[in-house]
Amino acid sequence: MSGPLLKVENLVKHYPLGGGFLKKAGPVVRAVEDVSFTLDAGETFCIVGESGCGKSTVARLLMRLTEPTDGRVLLEGTDIAGLRKDELHEWRRRMQMVFQDPYSSLNPRLNAGQIITEPVENFERLSRKMREALAAELLQKVGMSPAMMHRLPSELSGGQRQRLGIARALSLNPSIIIADEAVSALDVSVQAQILNLLMNLQEQMGIAFVFISHDLSVVAHIGHRVAVMYLGRIVELASCEALFAKPIHPYTEALIAAAPVPDPTQVRLEVSVKGEVPSPINPPSGCAFHPRCPLAVERCRIDVPPLVPMADGRVVACHVRAPIAEAPAQMAAEARALVLSRP
Ligand code: SF4
Repeated sequence: MSGPLLKVENLVKHYPLGGGFLKKAGPVVRAVEDVSFTLDAGETFCIVGESGCGKSTVARLLMRLTEPTDGRVLLEGTDIAGLRKDELHEWRRRMQMVFQDPYSSLNPRLNAGQIITEPVENFERLSRKMREALAAELLQKVGMSPAMMHRLPSELSGGQRQRLGIARALSLNPSIIIADEAVSALDVSVQAQILNLLMNLQEQMGIAFVFISHDLSVVAHIGHRVAVMYLGRIVELASCEALFAKPIHPYTEALIAAAPVPDPTQVRLEVSVKGEVPSPINPPSGCAFHPRCPLAVERCRIDVPPLVPMADGRVVACHVRAPIAEAPAQMAAEARALVLSRP
């Protein structure tokens, strides 16, 4: 296959509040605004941002669990919005999801073996022998003993339940797994084990991940590229290496400065982000970050900054740090095409 595995183009999701038949349209939650990125086979693309920035809505849009207001999601070149229900069912084999809370996403009445093989049984009937052989293989793949296949979720630890969620996602041999805050509910030591498991599975099976997290240290550990979201928009998209070495957008800078530093001898950037994330129902004009930004100028209150390509291949949306004049149109188009795929 040539081209990216997944291509997200100008995705928008607005949720109307109130209004209705014969009533004036109510306010709108602007959850996702003009989000574009690509995902290559075997890549881990991370989406990071504070709670309410729209990252989990992007995950739901990718899985078509909710319909976009505008924009497209192309999986292997096919627009998933145009698929009929039966076609979508078939395409869902290729894209699976791992959730934040493994406990609430697992049926408490089914045992581990039944949970893992349930997605396959939505497509084909398995004999008891086939089901047990598949469950044993998948449990081993995620580092659990096949003897655990008869246990209920309540008899497993948090880490084991998340391994079970991953085994279930693997059962259909997907090319993409969307992991939405998949390690946030776990202790730090268990988080590391699950991240290493995902990285090993990627190496063995070539799976691509869209990894959604609010935790920059997790993203730094697992990601190839990262998009930083603020109030529904991507404000910086770069390779993880470039982003963590030198954040450019003031919000990225503040997020990295606020993240725990694993090495106490490492110097922390002295940047602070004041105030709370504004409401997506009534976002600030211009750059939505302007009420919290220490670098804001008059223009920031008026114009939404476009994503501008930088010399190192990243894109940044900031009037001050990435002025559009620095990117002539031709170079902008070329660099934008480049940054949207893995180097
Ligand atoms: Fe800050 Fe202005 Fe840049 Fe927004 S556009 S991040 S307000 S300097």
